Amino acid sequence: MIKRETNVDEILKEIREIISQMVPKEAKITEVEFEGPELVIYVKNPEAVMQDGDLIKNLAKVLKKRISVRPDPDVLLPPEKAEELIKQIVPPEAEITNISFDPSVGEVIIEAKKPGLVIGKNGETLREITQKVYWAPKVVRTPPLQSQTIYSIRGILQSESKDRRKFLRQVGRNIYRKPELKSEWIRITGLGGFREVGRSALLLQTNESFVLVDFGVNVAALNDPKKGFPHFDAPEFTYVLKEGLLDAIIITHAHLDHSGLLPYLFRYNLFDGPIYTTPPTRDLMVLLQKDFIEIQQSNGADPLYRMKDIKEVVKHTITLDYGEVRDISPDLRLTLHNAGHILGSSIVHLHVGNGLHNIAVTGDFKFLPTRLFEPANARFPRLETLIMESTYGGSRDYQMPREEAEKRLIEVILQTIKRKGKVLIPAMAVGRAQEIMLVLEEYARVGGLEVPIYLDGMIWEATAIHTAYPEYLSKSLRDQIFHEGYNPFLNEIFKPVANANERKDIIESEEPAIIIASSGMLVGGPSVEYFKNLASDPRNSIIFVSYQAEGTLGRQVQRGLREIPMIGEGGKTEVVQVNMEIHTIDGFSGHADRRELMSYIAKVKPRPERVITVHGEPQKCLDLASSIHKKFGISTRAPNNLDAIRLK
Ligand code: ZN
Ligand code: ZN
Repeated sequence: MIKRETNVDEILKEIREIISQMVPKEAKITEVEFEGPELVIYVKNPEAVMQDGDLIKNLAKVLKKRISVRPDPDVLLPPEKAEELIKQIVPPEAEITNISFDPSVGEVIIEAKKPGLVIGKNGETLREITQKVYWAPKVVRTPPLQSQTIYSIRGILQSESKDRRKFLRQVGRNIYRKPELKSEWIRITGLGGFREVGRSALLLQTNESFVLVDFGVNVAALNDPKKGFPHFDAPEFTYVLKEGLLDAIIITHAHLDHSGLLPYLFRYNLFDGPIYTTPPTRDLMVLLQKDFIEIQQSNGADPLYRMKDIKEVVKHTITLDYGEVRDISPDLRLTLHNAGHILGSSIVHLHVGNGLHNIAVTGDFKFLPTRLFEPANARFPRLETLIMESTYGGSRDYQMPREEAEKRLIEVILQTIKRKGKVLIPAMAVGRAQEIMLVLEEYARVGGLEVPIYLDGMIWEATAIHTAYPEYLSKSLRDQIFHEGYNPFLNEIFKPVANANERKDIIESEEPAIIIASSGMLVGGPSVEYFKNLASDPRNSIIFVSYQAEGTLGRQVQRGLREIPMIGEGGKTEVVQVNMEIHTIDGFSGHADRRELMSYIAKVKPRPERVITVHGEPQKCLDLASSIHKKFGISTRAPNNLDAIRLK
């Protein structure tokens, strides 16, 4: 990324001239620089700019860039002083719970129980803060559950702000290295996750830019990097890394098969550019990556990367909310849209060149409403190539309707409780776990459920992150939390499991219980521990509520294997007898099933010229591609890993 030749200084010179003519002298401009995907104007007197309400809009129109006006760092009050003043200005009834500063963007994040009182009538209080401390205030509601992950990410951004600003300037200079140019060609290469699930990675190239969409790891094939990692041996990828030409990495969502190998790139200094994703995806992927290396460590393996590499991921991430349009290279413009799969999951839309071509990569998506999220976005300004997932793309991959699945889940649970058994629900910490929690909570509230629901693994922390981003949840859930004032995640029926001793007590207790534990496919984590100890008792049940990939223990159990050799205490292999009841209820999936995938093509606007199917077993990718072609007459492909396709 640093190796590109650029003529940014000339471009900036012209821009500075235009700005100095348009911005009033009293603003006292001190600096104009590209920082990440925007142009930042530093001024000593921000008030002078704010007075003309249309100035920034007009500047953006003339310069065709996103503009940010920030106070010059010299006028910012020192954080301790600023904090003191803010506490004086804001009435105590607002109940401020945390104040943190992000000097790289001149922002102060004020967390309060009553954010309305920090803002004040018509924004009066907020304006007073800006005038007195100069930091730009960002007000957030205190989340009902405290997330360690979120606080530690804020801490990293605050303490590393000098590096961070340097980094953002580097990125900005790379993005605007040339005036927008006309692209001549576009191609994509499958580095992983084509005709398979796991290690998703797609390289997109134009005559000007190189971008990766997702960089995952196949957790079920870790012992063989040839199958577990994306193809580092693809010649175009080797070249891009060696020459330092990768402009950006875009992450669709936090699941490890899409984000799990990112820190590895930093560990081996293979990349130092920007990662674009939504704020919740950043937080959740940090949580899952951390969990991933901890599980490797506890299995006695040498983890693929360290905490400090995950910290680099945080430092290099630039977050975008849904619908924000940003330049990420001279000929690529990025927008993220809701994918309905997990918190913060997005469909990546790339506009290439000046109207040359438009690509959408769905990542994992859901096209029906769930308790947690709205269905995936199906409307784009323009669209020629759609690259879509095919996890449930086979001709018979119909999931049970949601209501039936919920009924079935409750049935199995009640039967198990009746015979004094325990129910184990292995679930990915992010996504299915929260969906199941909402189903059980509702049932418990009407009085049908009186056993504890234990949450083990990263599920509680992931739930806390959900409560910090209500704007990313479905409208009905948001309404419930804010207007009816009832947050279902806080129901006392949920009991987080704090440590191994508590886990042991739960396993040994004679009382029936429901246990939701990660990982979802019985690949490491507490769910494996519970399985090992609960499998032999026929009173118990295991319920699979999510996709079980080839090669995982979950898949073996699901298929009905009755004797499973597992490493027991002291490292000895023992055979686990599986006598517990085994159920699969697929109606909770965060993936679109066959019917939804086909209806997505029918409804997506505009209709794409070409559909490329990925992220599914080979037969499913092929089947979906051929059905779409037959039904809609659209040109389709189901490429293999290492295949390259020219889009234009
Ligand atoms: Zn996923
Ligand atoms: Zn996936």
